[in-house]
Amino acid sequence: MKIRFWGTRGSVATPGPGTTYFGGNTSCVEVTTEDGGHLILDCGTGARQLGNELLTAASKPIQGSILLGHTHWDHIQGFPFFKPVFVPGNIFSVWAPQGGSRSLQETLSGQMEFTYFPVELGQLPAQITYHELAEGTYEIGGTRVTTQYLNHPAVTLGYRIEADGAAIVYLTDHEPFSDKLWRGDADPGHIDSMVHEGDRRHARFMAGADLVIHDAQYTPEEYESRKTWGHSTYEYVVDVAAAAGVKRIALTHHDPEHNDLLVADIEQRARAEAEKRRSPIEVFCAHEGGEYIIRGKQFRPAVAREAGAAPAAPPLAGARLLVVDDDLLLRRLAVKVLAKYGHTVSEAENGREALRIIDRQPPDLVVLDLEMPEMPGLEVLRALRSKAATAHLPVLILTASGNEAVTSASFEAGATDYLMKPFSIPQLTARVHACLERAAQPRGRTRAAYHRE
Ligand SMILES: [Zn+2]
Ligand SMILES: [Zn+2]
Repeated sequence: MKIRFWGTRGSVATPGPGTTYFGGNTSCVEVTTEDGGHLILDCGTGARQLGNELLTAASKPIQGSILLGHTHWDHIQGFPFFKPVFVPGNIFSVWAPQGGSRSLQETLSGQMEFTYFPVELGQLPAQITYHELAEGTYEIGGTRVTTQYLNHPAVTLGYRIEADGAAIVYLTDHEPFSDKLWRGDADPGHIDSMVHEGDRRHARFMAGADLVIHDAQYTPEEYESRKTWGHSTYEYVVDVAAAAGVKRIALTHHDPEHNDLLVADIEQRARAEAEKRRSPIEVFCAHEGGEYIIRGKQFRPAVAREAGAAPAAPPLAGARLLVVDDDLLLRRLAVKVLAKYGHTVSEAENGREALRIIDRQPPDLVVLDLEMPEMPGLEVLRALRSKAATAHLPVLILTASGNEAVTSASFEAGATDYLMKPFSIPQLTARVHACLERAAQPRGRTRAAYHRE
């Protein structure tokens, strides 16, 4: 199975410079099976770009099954902008939980009434059928789909999809059934030790899955004041999934108030929670454009085809980079993003550590924060320039200072480039690659020099 995230944001689309890595579009995940089965999980605003790419790639009519967990806006708002439904000959089935006073078709028509949208549901040229689901097992798009109710203010279904010898489980929106997950008189970490049968059932539903995609909108601190809103914390997700023997979790439905740094922090905290539980479970925060292949026991990212995150031209790959910043979150996010381009990225939290690493083996480029306690970046830069081995080492300065004197001093000390905080992830990767490219040219190094594999 191939899984691609088109929308990872919860509640409302959140575009802007702070969300370019994890993404601003609301819930939408595409699942493709080896024999051509095509499932779309939720139709948030991410579905717009998915539709465009499907149309671009299509050589024959498009067929697909759209599975909606529920019909809150952030799970259906992309539907009227999903262009394949405007093309005659395309065939879609739409599946969602039955419940409420209106049929699925009436509910979807609601957001397309003439007051809100120029084309009504019934006028869509594609052939669309609507199906209401309860808990059970169904065959949809050549896959085995099992459904189970989640804990959310609207009737919501979770989906377990089995195909190609693998199982993925899609669980959003959902919040813990019980305030306290573990019984006081039992060993935490086992399904049987959970207080509430709802949470035990939730754990059994995801048991043994290769990938669980789960709502983790709030931090545990935020959740205290948002109980009953229908969303989970990474702590709950990791604890339940680890007890259920799940292989890996993609945390999603990121809160609109969380920028990339905060989501990266949640990823770190979630991994620490898994370590605390001594669980081998892999944990990551889903990002828009993330594409993964599950084949039997194997799980790997597909070749990067990043929406919005990658520059048009293929960047230099395989360079050795060093990121020096006392800001842990920024450092981790930079390392993560640059590693995706095939670079080997090391990190240092202060100037002295950076100089030690560079002394041992100079990297191809240093990303260097200016404002660090103990040894400021400018001092590190001067130390590098005073030695023959690092006199020409490309150094990209990061700074929160808009002060002209600081900019001038940095260039006088030999900075290769200078990037102001806050910056977006594409800005950072573009500047790093420009520095590498520029450094490769004058001294006669070729692109091939970086491909060291
Ligand atoms: Zn939602
Ligand atoms: Zn919802």
